[in-house]
Amino acid sequence: MNIPNLTAFQDTLRRRSYAPLLLIIFTTFCLTGFSAQACDFERVKFDAQFDAGRLDACEMVTTGAIEETHQTHFILSVNPENTPINPSPWYAFSAVAKGADHTISVSIVASDAKPRYTPKVSTDKQHWTPIDFHVDSEGLHFELALSSEPIYVAAQEIIVNDDYQAWMQKDAIQSLFTIEQVGTSVQERPIYGMVATQEQNKEWLLIVGRQHPPEITGAIALFAFVEKMSANSELQQAFFKRFNVLVVPMINPDGVVAGNWRHNINGVDLNRDWGKFTQPETTTTFNYFRSRLKQDHRLVFALDFHSTQQDIFYTMPEEYGLVPADFAQRWIEQLKEQRLGSFTVRERPGSSPGRGVFKQFIADNFRVHSVTYEMGDNTERPLIKHIAHKSAEIMMQQMLATPAEAFIPKAIDESVD
Ligand SMILES: [Zn+2]
Repeated sequence: MNIPNLTAFQDTLRRRSYAPLLLIIFTTFCLTGFSAQACDFERVKFDAQFDAGRLDACEMVTTGAIEETHQTHFILSVNPENTPINPSPWYAFSAVAKGADHTISVSIVASDAKPRYTPKVSTDKQHWTPIDFHVDSEGLHFELALSSEPIYVAAQEIIVNDDYQAWMQKDAIQSLFTIEQVGTSVQERPIYGMVATQEQNKEWLLIVGRQHPPEITGAIALFAFVEKMSANSELQQAFFKRFNVLVVPMINPDGVVAGNWRHNINGVDLNRDWGKFTQPETTTTFNYFRSRLKQDHRLVFALDFHSTQQDIFYTMPEEYGLVPADFAQRWIEQLKEQRLGSFTVRERPGSSPGRGVFKQFIADNFRVHSVTYEMGDNTERPLIKHIAHKSAEIMMQQMLATPAEAFIPKAIDESVD
């Protein structure tokens, strides 16, 4: 990060004869349209015109004597895509100094929502560093040292469609999975699936991710989970000799590109659309999955990766009539027995029929367990990966230890539509 050049800043102000203005409160507005915009001020440019970029309005507010504070204060506003919405204000933008390096203070203000995500900075959108901040009733506040090189600021690490593409090209993934387009978004972006099948296999594992765009720790967990499954080992070979796998790592590409707080580009929560199938993302993905299930095939387990304030595994209750009855509970019990450092394994069984939640839809239509795998927003990233590796390994062992007949429901509800 560059050290702010305050002297140069003051010199610039004097040279430009701004002195009469210094004691006057002045405010400059740069009102922008809806999302992904740029705000161009005399000495600073903010830009959110990249995938996952989000900035709805910028305001330069300098109160009192600049000579005392040496800083210009900017209020950057972000708005949800529509309401009502789960309040998860997402922001992502670059900032660059025009002219001399200097430091600014920034407030992120979100309409009707408290901050959820703490700021991180990066120069390449790949490596991120948390920065100091404080929160009050007005919003989230921090300082930024600017230079002529853009610095990116975001609510969480930026993981966009290109990153998924690059990840799916990794050797371990490529040697195991075929990459196919399984669906199409509202804005006609492809939704990719990673498919691993063998002729003799009749049982399927289904994994989905990124229904909610800002939920990056869930994305990090999914990557690590699938990488562990892909790592060459006896366990891996035995697993893929028995189970077919479909992974749809990113089901909401439009929402991710737009920097949405939760919904797809139509303003719909995809994790309230399963079974209702009003949106192309859920509909085309599920139709693809169903097209791969041959008559004697069946789904045996499913996972959906998310993020929330805490690390939580939302399961279906043991008494819900799924097979095997305690499958998810045993998986989580075994995870608890691992040495996981500061990680607390929290299980929360629950059922919410008819709400369109993926986990519930799977349970009600296939009579097997499904888990919403939620990682905390601030959980240490190496710990997320460690938990994902352990939980993938235990799941593979447990699925292999479960006889095929134990995964067959007594009566399958045929009314999938
Ligand atoms: Zn979520």
